[in-house]
Formats: sequence, structure tokens, C-alpha cells
Amino acid sequence: MAGKLWVFDLDNTIRFCGSDYEKPAQDAAKYIHSLLKNDLGKKAPSTEEIITVAREIDRKRVNEINPKTGTPFLYCMDRFPGSQVETFHQLCQKYNINPGEAADSEIAGRLLKIGLRAFSEELFRSNIAPRAKEVLKFLRDQDDTLVIYTKGDNHVQNLKLKVLKKIGVIPQDTNACVQENKHADTFRHLALLYPSRKRFVVGDTYKADIQPALSLNLGYKSILIPAENWEEPGQLEKTLAEVDRQNCRIFKDLGQIVDQYREL
Ligand SMILES: [Mg+2]
Repeated sequence: MAGKLWVFDLDNTIRFCGSDYEKPAQDAAKYIHSLLKNDLGKKAPSTEEIITVAREIDRKRVNEINPKTGTPFLYCMDRFPGSQVETFHQLCQKYNINPGEAADSEIAGRLLKIGLRAFSEELFRSNIAPRAKEVLKFLRDQDDTLVIYTKGDNHVQNLKLKVLKKIGVIPQDTNACVQENKHADTFRHLALLYPSRKRFVVGDTYKADIQPALSLNLGYKSILIPAENWEEPGQLEKTLAEVDRQNCRIFKDLGQIVDQYREL
């Protein structure tokens, strides 16, 4: 019997990325705070308040239209670190500050540079999900086929994949697909490519990672390893109530795939 097909999500499934933005976002807010303090003195919003504004812009931007492209920002770099520049602009407007064109462009450049630290090779080597390397190697050793299917900025996701292959977390010859958003059609295509394989999809977000595959009724089974989601904080309980339990198992970590492999 042919091995199984495994379609894995990347962010917060194989590698935890929630804290990638934390330090750069904090540094950007500190910098904005210092700039606003020049004009506003003690009335300047605190670093924490600035972080809250930036986070809200980030969250909203996912679905907003990027004026540069005419399509939603989704997960491109215009969203983050672009959101840090937008935070500065919105606060300037709110407090009636005009930094002038030259200063503004210098500040924007510096904010982008601070934000780009969220996408460094060094950072991508860290925060690997427990047992990720062992699990992917185990599946390969069973003659299973692995595909990494991830949504996000093409450049950033490809850099992550390159780093994770380099440090041996993802087997070298694993196929990967990067798209701005996940689509049922991609899962359909994979099912056609591997018609005789039992198919599994693994991810941390039910709506984005799992549902598009299950909606096809093409025999996909799924494993959800839930993580509290920054886009929908506090939504976990609601999501768990909606899960199609017939076709979706809920695991607490990746290691359970190895531990329960024979029953899958
Ligand atoms: Mg994910």
C-alpha cells in the first residue's frame, strides 16, 4: 500500500512565529514614543499604547486593500513592517504633528529597518515546535510524502523554508507551496497528484489550514494542533466547538503523530 500524503502548515505548526514580531514591534514603538515626546512631552502616548495601536492596524490590515497593489494586504511586508510606519502617521495625525517630508521619509526608513528584524535567518532557526524534526523524519522513513503548504509573503516564507531545511528540521527534498492564502483547489490538486494515498492535513488554525481541505470531500483527514491565534484572540473555544470531529483529530503537539501513527 502506498504511503500517506501529509500536507503540513508551517507557521505555528512546525515553527512558532508569534514572538517574531514582538521585539521589533516593541523597538519600533519605543522609537515612535521618543519622536512624539519631542513634540508632546509628557502627553506623548506610552510605548504600550503605541504597541496597542500598531497591533490593531496590523490585524485590520490583513483584509484591507493595499493601495499599492489594489488587493488585500494579507501577509505581505507592506502589512508588517509597513504597519509600523502607518502607526507613526496615524499618531502624527491624531496629535497634529507635521514632521516634514524629509524627516518623515527618514523615520519611515528607520521603522521599516527595525521591523525587518522580524524576518532574519537567525530568528528563523529558533522556536521550532517540539519534536518537529523527529516527526517529519519519521514520516519520511515510513515512505510517506510530505508537502509544506503555507500562506504568507513569498520571500519571507521561502527564507524560512530554506533555513529549516538547512538546519535539518524539514527534509531537504520536501515539496513546498507558498500562497497568499490557502485554497481548496491546491488541496484538490494534491489529491489528484497522489490518488492512492491516504491524505492528512496538519495545522494550527482550523479555518485557514483544515477547512479548505475538508470542504472538498476528497477523503482528507486532518489533525488540528490549536494555538491561540493573534488574528482572533479568544476564539479558540468557539473554533473547537465547530470542528468536524469525524474528520479532524485534535492533538496537543506534533509528537502525537508519531505516537499514534498506527491508528491513523
Ligand atoms: Mg499556522
